[in-house]
Amino acid sequence: MKSAYLNKVLETVKARNPGEPEFLQAVTEVLESLECIVEKHPEYEANGIIERFVEPERFVQFRVPWVDDSGKVQVNRGFRVQYNSAIGPYKGGLRFHPSVNASVIKFLGFEQILKNSLTTLPMGGGKGGSDFDPKGKSDAEVMRFCQSFMSELYRNIGQFTDVPAGDIGVGGREIGYLFGEYKKITNRFDAGVLTGKGLSYGGSLARTQATGYGVCYFTQEYLKTVKNESFAGKTCIVSGSGNVAQYAAEKATQLGAKVVAMSDSNGYIYDPNGINLPVLFDIKQRRRARISEYAKEVPGSEYHENCRMIWSVKADICMPCATQNEIDVKEAEMIIANGAIGVFEGANMPTSLAATEMIRKAGLLFSPGKASNAGGVATSGLEMSQNSMRLSWTFEEVDARLKGIMEGIFHNAYDASVECGAEGNMVVGANVAGFLKVADAMLAQGVV
Ligand code: NDP
Repeated sequence: MKSAYLNKVLETVKARNPGEPEFLQAVTEVLESLECIVEKHPEYEANGIIERFVEPERFVQFRVPWVDDSGKVQVNRGFRVQYNSAIGPYKGGLRFHPSVNASVIKFLGFEQILKNSLTTLPMGGGKGGSDFDPKGKSDAEVMRFCQSFMSELYRNIGQFTDVPAGDIGVGGREIGYLFGEYKKITNRFDAGVLTGKGLSYGGSLARTQATGYGVCYFTQEYLKTVKNESFAGKTCIVSGSGNVAQYAAEKATQLGAKVVAMSDSNGYIYDPNGINLPVLFDIKQRRRARISEYAKEVPGSEYHENCRMIWSVKADICMPCATQNEIDVKEAEMIIANGAIGVFEGANMPTSLAATEMIRKAGLLFSPGKASNAGGVATSGLEMSQNSMRLSWTFEEVDARLKGIMEGIFHNAYDASVECGAEGNMVVGANVAGFLKVADAMLAQGVV
């Protein structure tokens, strides 16, 4: 980076947050993108905007004790970062996964500020979670954990303060238990306090599908605008097999593509005939089983250990929808060698900085998750609107709004890349477009 101001901010962030590689990765990427605007806006430095932007407004860590089915006491760690509330109440998911720590939560919360700004809805950035692993736990254990987690989190959230949702390891079941406990503690049916709720108690149609569908709507607009292409007749890899991956695969298939590979953290499946989605949904949603089951049930498909080798499969469209840094240099080399058209992120930060650079230099299209996966939080915003109005929109109505928002995000980010002299660089475009609105609001609100 050439900017002395940005370098100084980055050095301070590094010194203050040692041992937090994911967080530093996310901040580095964003600050590099902002280089093209800081000179034009001396008021940012004069008002310490970027110094404040990289520092969370609040970071809460708490003990989560719970009793397992054998009667033994277990202790996990809970987190919530309330990163930036300049444009609305904090908003962002909860992740339950053994890899969760302060670095992961802060990187996710930081990215969320820009993502939420890109949706054009009034939502600030936050994120939370725990190192609890729901895998292999009984329903009763998951419920007791969620109740204990909420018995502390409840004092930090609210429809005008902070509105959590799901993420890795937190789906409809967990949101239900969390909402039930919040209602019991506060004695309020406060539907707007969580999103991703079930349809019978304030949820929105199409929220479950929204992130995955949104990735495809974004990708469709990107392909059409810059290549006059579409999903029709293309082969796709969708890594992961959770909420985002399942519905990205479903929408890509509906749009005429063939999804040939999916994965979980143990390995990947390859099905040259196109993944049979009803079988996959049954394995993952109903049985909560491993993806290896698929190859036992679908003739002609194969299962391979080592999920990272999913990128060795030849395909036109790559949609990483599992977790951070799943595509590093080795995986990027395979994607480029296989002649893919592009990488369209469904997960948060699934591509390392070095791999992003390689993919872009090789001329592939590349969309950062904060732009292409914003459909989930956008539809959470629509769920909040419906809760406030005490109305429910139809699936088609929510889906149409989602599609419009994703197309808008694409064009907003693309136009920002042009204004920055980096036409087509969607990393720069998304970071700049998201940042400008937040910075304006921060300037207007004074030093807080
Ligand atoms: P789920 O828990 O539903 O699914 C996660 C999937 O990724 C599973 O297949 C899981 O495999 C796999 N996975 C998780 N950790 C790893 C790992 N360390 N290595 C390899 N595979 C892994 O989560 P979501 O689908 O909700 O989230 C996926 C990604 O999308 C995350 O990056 C999340 O932050 C992002 N995202 C999610 C949104 C949402 O609305 N849910 C919104 C925007 C972004 P296994 O079952 O074996 O663990």
